[in-house]
Amino acid sequence: MENTASSIPSKMKAWVYSEHGKPVDVLKLDSNYDVPQLKEDQVLIKVVAAALNPVDFKRMLGMFIHSDSPLPSVPGYDVAGVVLKVGSQVRTLKEGDEVYGNINEKGLDRPKRSGTLAEYTVAEENLLALKPKNLGFIEAAAIPLAIGTAYEGLHKTALSAGKSILVLGGAGGVGTMVIQLAKHVFGASKVAATSSSAKLELLKSLGADLAIDYTKENFEDLPEKFDVIYDAVGQSERAVKAIKEGGKVVTIEPVGELAEPAFRFILTSSGAMLETLNPFLENGKVKPVIDPRGTFAFSQTPQAFSYLETGRVTGKIVIHPI
Ligand code: NDP
Repeated sequence: MENTASSIPSKMKAWVYSEHGKPVDVLKLDSNYDVPQLKEDQVLIKVVAAALNPVDFKRMLGMFIHSDSPLPSVPGYDVAGVVLKVGSQVRTLKEGDEVYGNINEKGLDRPKRSGTLAEYTVAEENLLALKPKNLGFIEAAAIPLAIGTAYEGLHKTALSAGKSILVLGGAGGVGTMVIQLAKHVFGASKVAATSSSAKLELLKSLGADLAIDYTKENFEDLPEKFDVIYDAVGQSERAVKAIKEGGKVVTIEPVGELAEPAFRFILTSSGAMLETLNPFLENGKVKPVIDPRGTFAFSQTPQAFSYLETGRVTGKIVIHPI
């Protein structure tokens, strides 16, 4: 049945956890979960595809309990879907728009209890952008949180044309975006990135000039030093040994030691940022990277999380159809 504002049900299918633990143990499929209430500045979205992020299982494990929302909770930050209904203060988006975005403005500050791993979700208009015209819903869902983290981190390091950058963790969800943005949006003169042996060709295909196999070489032992290091792994102690004097090290790994002068940040979701990057997605310079195992069916969400928890995923995992 076609979804229209008048046909929005009050209940939906959603993956829900009511206690902390491993996703395979605590995630339960609820076929009778309340469709979230729409606030004035929000839109209601029929979720078509949703991507997973490490933050989802880390929250489930209870790692961010001090700033998290109360349980029960539906996980999921990234969404691509269709606007079904708009709140009274919504100015730009309208019913039928195909949108994508990360629905939580502050990554760890009281994320929404009704996330994207459900048939419907809500998000503030200013966290969403129109889906790039050339991308399907699966590809669009793979983008927002990762590209936002990549862009914000690069912006904070003041990476600019002609500078060099080393990306630690180049094959992950964030790293694949950092390589592409550094090369094709910020105009870095040299992009180096680390991964295990089998992923080196991927790093090069994304724009890395130098792909470093961390199973064979320690990046901090190379003679070359970098203007910027983007650490998506949690190796800031090693990273600070590989920067040029006055260079910047940004890390996104939320726990563990932070070596001077490295700094850490937690992303802020922004629809305007996605709109800024849409031209680079639409002209194909920046591409979503989806793991070769492809997408997982909605019913396989716990198994998809188990795979993500291995830390070996290439790019993103997307849940589709929902
Ligand atoms: P992924 O799960 O996508 O990362 C998996 C990738 O990491 C794999 O391809 C793997 O490649 C690579 N990897 C693992 N260990 C190493 C290593 N020692 N050296 C190089 N590469 C390695 O994670 P994300 O990219 O989504 O996120 C990365 C981290 O950043 C997570 O801890 C996440 O929680 C955090 N994060 C923080 C944010 C913030 O706002 N602060 C926002 C987004 C993410 P291989 O198999 O070759 O090792």
